[in-house]
Formats: sequence, C-alpha cells, structure tokens
Amino acid sequence: MTEEQQCYERFLNDFERIINLDSSSDNPEGIAEVAAFLRDKLVPLGLEVEITRQGEDGVPCLKACTPSRDGRYDFLFLGHMDTVFPTGEAGRRPFRTEGGLAHGPGVNDMKGGLLLAVYVVERLKKEGALDDMAVCLAFNGDEETGSHNSRPWIEETAALCDRVLVFEPCRPGFRYVVSRKGGYRVRVVAHGVSSHAGADPEKGVNAVVELAHQIGRINALNHAGSGITAQCTVIRGGDKTNIIPDRAEVEVDVRYATMQEMAEVDAFFEALPKETLLPGATVEVVVHGQRPPMESGPESEALFQLLVAEGAKLGIEVGGISTGGCSDGNWTAAMGIPTLDGMGPVGENSHRLDEYMTLDSFIPARTMISAFCRQAVNKGN
Ligand SMILES: [Zn+2]
Repeated sequence: MTEEQQCYERFLNDFERIINLDSSSDNPEGIAEVAAFLRDKLVPLGLEVEITRQGEDGVPCLKACTPSRDGRYDFLFLGHMDTVFPTGEAGRRPFRTEGGLAHGPGVNDMKGGLLLAVYVVERLKKEGALDDMAVCLAFNGDEETGSHNSRPWIEETAALCDRVLVFEPCRPGFRYVVSRKGGYRVRVVAHGVSSHAGADPEKGVNAVVELAHQIGRINALNHAGSGITAQCTVIRGGDKTNIIPDRAEVEVDVRYATMQEMAEVDAFFEALPKETLLPGATVEVVVHGQRPPMESGPESEALFQLLVAEGAKLGIEVGGISTGGCSDGNWTAAMGIPTLDGMGPVGENSHRLDEYMTLDSFIPARTMISAFCRQAVNKGN
C-alpha cells in the first residue's frame, strides 16, 4: 500500500468515528467528545492541545498549536465542531459511503474539513516542514448558532496569526471561497393599540398595518446591482379577527457584500423607527448576530493565486467563488488578516439530509494544501 492509500484508510476510519459522534450546537457533551477525539490525533503530532469552555454558555473549543515563532503563527486553521443536526441524528443516520460519496450528519459541514486540517498538519510534520512553520488550529463549538460565545476567543487567537485558512467545505470542482457576504438577523416590532375591530376601530392603532408598511420599506433594500439583500422571512401578529392588533413583528435576514453596504444597512435600520405610517404607532428594531463581510483584498488574492498555482502542479484546476453564507472567516477577514475559506474537502448540500462529501477529494486536497502552506511561508506571501 502506498502512503496515500494508507492515509486514506486511516482517514475513512476516523471519518466514520467522528461523524457518529453527535455534536449539535446545543450538545456541549457531544462537542467535547469530538474535541477529545481530535486532541488524541493532534497530541502525537507534537502539538500543544488545550480544550476550554468559552463564553457564558461554556462552549467547548479546541486550540492546538505548534511552537510559535516569537509568539506568532504562520497559519490559523479554523473550523467548527458543531453541526446543525439534533442529538440522535448520528444513530438514525450513521456514517455511510456510497458511490464515492460519504453521507452522515456533518460530513460536509464540516467534520471532513476538521479531519483535513489535522491531516495537513500531519503531512507537514512528516515532511519536516513544521520545523520552519508555526501553525495553530482553532475549532469552536457554536459556529452554527453565530459564534456568540467563541468570537472573542477566535479573534484573540487569530490576532497572533499571519494567515487564516477556514476549512469549511470546498465547492464541487475545487472552487474555494474568496469572499463572503456579512449579515445579521433583524427583528422589527410594530406596537399599536388594540381595540374592537367593529365597535371601536377609531380607538385602535393597527400594528399589522404599520408592520406591513415597514416590510415594504425593508423589501425595497433588495435591488439589482447591490450586494445587499433583506428578506422578510417570519411574521407574527394579531390574535383574533375582531381585535385590532397592538403588536406585530417580522424577522429579517440581512446580507451585504462590503463594509460600505454594511454601513448603509445599519443606517437604514437605525432610521427605520423614525418614519411610521400610523399616528400613535411605534416601531422597534432589534439586531442579532452581526457579522462583517469577508472581502477579498490584495493579500488574500495573492494567497488564492498561490493556491491556484499549487493546484495546477497537481492537475487540479482551482476556482474561486463568492457566497452569501457567513462563516468565522468573516471575523478574521474583518481584522485585516488574509483569509481563504472553503479549504475543506469537496462536497455539497450542507444543513440538508442529502449532504455529501466527495471521498476522492480528500487526498488531493491534503497534498495541495500542505504544498501551498510551504510555498506561502517560503515566499512570505
Ligand atoms: Zn460550517
């Protein structure tokens, strides 16, 4: 058996074990099991591994580092150990392979990526490259719920690193993520005055009507040629047909491609309550989970070109894409650290039951990414 075949066999075995550990974002014990499993892979490689609980919810997070170079690291390999699938899912739908694809909860998003990060470190170690390179791995456990607990921990860690590779899934055809939109969730609440709809309509202020007006304004944020999207997705209001409602609310999914668009959207929602349709109505805006956009800059573009060049040497045609989805790469890019994302194995359909990972992408990705890391450090890119 060649080294690559042996490596693939070990990977398959590890993959089955890690997928069959449930690690929903609301299951800290499961996430801690995933962390312990990965720790046992990383300690023999000589990395110093630390599993801590972050934030007020005590989310398990794993950090694994080679010795630093004067306190700094050449790379941060970033990933998340939580999945969107509920506890019990791995029992109902355990790891399986079929026709060259792996299935099971989190195969694509992103346990395949976690293993790829570990296997890249292993290869760099075997090649002796870790003697001249400092690498830190940071895997959190609350990415799927917005990284509220782990964000300071991620930012503290990233501040010591020169480049960030996020091992979220790679898109089919080896297309890597060079930019991501930022975004947040907004709840807009209209307050009115309830009254009998038939007997005393003049005494009421209809919160549903006020909200409908505001939804029209929000929806107008969507227009061609802009990276801004604002989708009103969940609505609640009213109770009985003959009562004018005093409260109505809508949840809005907001995205933007640039810092400037983020500022525009912020200003819009700040000003929203100042302009109401109905006298006596008030409007309240609550923002949750703001993430800045991951914009591609000259440094991350240079890194991406290096990846393209390393891919070409192996016969892999590397492509780049932009996506509306957010990841923890949004934080690190906003800190000004060159960030490449989608560094995991190739797959599709995250958050869905038909999620899959393409098994034969693992070994080529491992070879390419480790060569890329060596080149980036050598060239000082
Ligand atoms: Zn993910």
